[in-house]
Amino acid sequence: MTPLTTAKQPVTTFSPGPWTVNLVEVQHADGVSLIAYIKADTGHREIAVLYNDEDRVANARLIAAAPTMLEALREIIADAYYVENPGGTPICTHCQELEGDPHDPDCSMQFVIAAIAKAEGRP
Ligand SMILES: [Zn+2]
Repeated sequence: MTPLTTAKQPVTTFSPGPWTVNLVEVQHADGVSLIAYIKADTGHREIAVLYNDEDRVANARLIAAAPTMLEALREIIADAYYVENPGGTPICTHCQELEGDPHDPDCSMQFVIAAIAKAEGRP
């Protein structure tokens, strides 16, 4: 497990990425089924197995991309603030709101923050 942290608080852990999708055809009495396995490359641990969902391959790819997307979102939010004065509160480069204050309703950073929170199990 890899600890995940934001600038403000440690939150959760997950199996380290990258994760990959492996498609396996399974022969059975009714024919052949395609099973999608999502595995962590490190330690080859199984993350999820998708059986019967008709969208299983696309869903498996989306799940497997999660660690990469979370890291990308963290990079985006880390670059989204600047400090105008030494010791000052960081300011959002997109809407100019102070860190900790609500972003402007049109600021895309609020969606980035919400997606990271969802991945980390925070409200
Ligand atoms: Zn903003």
